[in-house]
Amino acid sequence: MIKPEFLALLGCPACAERSPLKQVGNYLVCTKDGTGFPIEDGIPRLLPESAIPPEVMKDKTQ
Ligand SMILES: [Zn+2]
Repeated sequence: MIKPEFLALLGCPACAERSPLKQVGNYLVCTKDGTGFPIEDGIPRLLPESAIPPEVMKDKTQ
């Protein structure tokens, strides 16, 4: 589990305004557009090339 105070420092790399992220399972999900980023070995991969489209995230988190 990623510490909330650390999570608060992060922002979605896909959003110009760096929207907050929330943890859903092994992913961080943008609270604005739903883009997901995988957490691997406890480290969030917040890179544009790691971004998972919102429609794919929907399948993973349901
Ligand atoms: Zn975003």
